[in-house]
Amino acid sequence: MKLVVLGTLAFDSIQTPFGRVENVLGGSATYFSLAARNFSEVGVISVVGSDFHEEHLKFLEKRSIDLKGVEKTKGKTFRWQGYYEYDMDQAHTLKTELNVLESFKPKIPREYRKCDYLFLANTDPGIQMETLDKIKPKYSFCDTMNFWIEHKREELTELLKNVDGVFINEGEAREYCKTPNLIAAGRKLLKLGLKKVVIKKGESGAIFMSDKEFFAAPAYPLEVVKDPTGAGDSFAGGTIGHLAKHGKFTDEWIKKSMVCGSVISSYVVEDFGIESYRKLKHEDIEKRYNTFKKIVAFDHKY
Ligand code: AMP
Repeated sequence: MKLVVLGTLAFDSIQTPFGRVENVLGGSATYFSLAARNFSEVGVISVVGSDFHEEHLKFLEKRSIDLKGVEKTKGKTFRWQGYYEYDMDQAHTLKTELNVLESFKPKIPREYRKCDYLFLANTDPGIQMETLDKIKPKYSFCDTMNFWIEHKREELTELLKNVDGVFINEGEAREYCKTPNLIAAGRKLLKLGLKKVVIKKGESGAIFMSDKEFFAAPAYPLEVVKDPTGAGDSFAGGTIGHLAKHGKFTDEWIKKSMVCGSVISSYVVEDFGIESYRKLKHEDIEKRYNTFKKIVAFDHKY
């Protein structure tokens, strides 16, 4: 398997100023794999309860997402409930029900071991580390959130010292690095041994830092944003999926792949939950990728 993701398959209940949905398909692994599948084969490591709908698994399988690593167990599926106000960069969590995630011990299918790219989506850093140890991929990336920064900081630091790259949102970068400045936060993360640091800034885009490079990608300019849930995981899925397709890890390729990630998340936020993925086509991705080139182009002569 070229690319593997460890993350959640979830039931999300979401409210934004533009509507609400209840118990819809969500989760970090769902969004990541749907985005990555536009470029690369992808396998999922996750767990669902006996209440998880067969149609959701079929929906993912129909898109050729490999679910060999998804465990079905007794109990209730992970649930997340949240809302957004007019500042849609900020998700407000109302309820997180870990349910079957609480006793989750990932079982790694043989064909996922030594995969080329591994994304450890937001979950318990202990489980992320265990999965990294078992898979031993060529390149690894992780994500995290305030919940783990506050509750499992030491385990998270251990993980960050062992992965090649991190996708982290701006609030969490500030919180973990204890600085208001994102460039200082990026430097601090690089000092841990990370080779690639991507800081997500919602509608302001994302920045990338390595030892040698700094790059800023804008977000695609949209007038209609209905629900930002899944934008971060879709951005990571598009970026890493594109890297996996081409077998690359250089700074130049990360920049280009980040634009692919931005394009995919621009479609995701235009509708609730995973709805945009039902109609997203390659031509759509290519169209916005080309528009992106124009948005960031300027006359190089000073
Ligand atoms: P994002 O891409 O950052 O908007 O993440 C959206 C997804 O994260 C939602 O579909 C949620 O189900 C999932 N999620 C929320 N909280 C957690 C958590 N503590 N651990 C893992 N996944 C979560």
